[in-house]
Amino acid sequence: MKILVANLGSTSLKWRLYEFAGGAERLLHKGGFERVTDYAQAVGDCLAQITAAGAIQSEAELAGVGFKTVVARGVNGCVRLTEEVLGAMEAYNGLAPAHNPPYITGIRLFARRMPATPLVALFETAFYQWAPEAAQRYAVPADWHAAGIRRFGFHGASHKYIAERSAELLGREDVAERTRRLYLDDGQSPVRTPELRVISCHLGGSSSVTGILNGIGIGNSLGMSPQSGLPHNNRVGDLDAFALGYAMRTLGLSLDDAEKLLCRESGLKGLSGGLNDIRDISTRAAAGDAPAQLALDFLAHETRRWIGSYFLQLNGADALVFTAGIGENHVGMRSAICARLENLGLELDPALNAAVQAREAVISTASSRVKVMVIPTNEELVVAREVKRHLEARGN
Ligand code: ADP
Repeated sequence: MKILVANLGSTSLKWRLYEFAGGAERLLHKGGFERVTDYAQAVGDCLAQITAAGAIQSEAELAGVGFKTVVARGVNGCVRLTEEVLGAMEAYNGLAPAHNPPYITGIRLFARRMPATPLVALFETAFYQWAPEAAQRYAVPADWHAAGIRRFGFHGASHKYIAERSAELLGREDVAERTRRLYLDDGQSPVRTPELRVISCHLGGSSSVTGILNGIGIGNSLGMSPQSGLPHNNRVGDLDAFALGYAMRTLGLSLDDAEKLLCRESGLKGLSGGLNDIRDISTRAAAGDAPAQLALDFLAHETRRWIGSYFLQLNGADALVFTAGIGENHVGMRSAICARLENLGLELDPALNAAVQAREAVISTASSRVKVMVIPTNEELVVAREVKRHLEARGN
């Protein structure tokens, strides 16, 4: 079975084509276009490249196209894309202005180009559907809640990858299997004792922390929008709701202006005085620049805050996992986040930590009760796997 995963940005189209055959998974092709102006052309060129490379003989060979969609009103999980689902995504355009509109446009173009091919969405919110109600709510009036004001959590594909892969690496095939089956049986697959408790830190251009109990998400630091939680490269992270009105009145900003500033000029960029790549921030901090150092300290502080929260919710942790661009590569950030946790049974091994970039490894000491691991994430593979399961279980 061949499944194409399309990653749609406002001016980019990236793809990966996977083949599933007899239990084996193979990446057949990957590519992408930046600075796209004609999206219909880009979709056609993507399919032409895959065909020209010999990865498919014809477009009809694609069993499905998968999309890592972000958020939709009243729709969650892994679902076949219909006009109704696209409408539900449109209803939340304002929550994910950088993500939902390009996805909707791109999906419609794929649908027009390949009307007979199933298009399937895996929502980034899917992994938290079974989180406790208290982790899915805000303390707002009932009619706000009825209007859809609630926590969702995002980065679901990445954290699900970490849930499954960490369970495999920790020798818990039962838990890995439960995670694999999550969107088919709502987490009903049995697991052995003891419980497996994992805290996953996805630290990248956008960042979040998730608690995972026996392979299922119990919550995520991102809330209703992908702008919340930890500070992101240029998006704000958590902010007191009343700070927005105060800033608008005091600085004379419209709501649109304020939202743009919170999306584009805040987060690490706001704190560091204009830098949004953590490599540049780290270089500047090493040269003694105080705002750059503050940006690093703030990310470590906020990440620890959420790790602490899940450490309590999970009654401890068997593993703490780092993933995504910063988590996989930034030795200093991992060490700042893990500093002074010996009393909680967590000890990073400085030499192991320093030696690991972008590969799977344990970086804690042999005596650390909490295993600290680096696991490179693979979100596209998660989407492809879910599309395959969806098509096999529910057909076209
Ligand atoms: P996105 O959320 O956009 O997918 P990534 O997971 O690719 O982001 O992470 C991007 C972030 O990772 C950037 O802030 C970048 O500086 C950081 N990063 C990437 N490579 C390295 C590296 N080798 N060392 C430190 N940070 C890195």
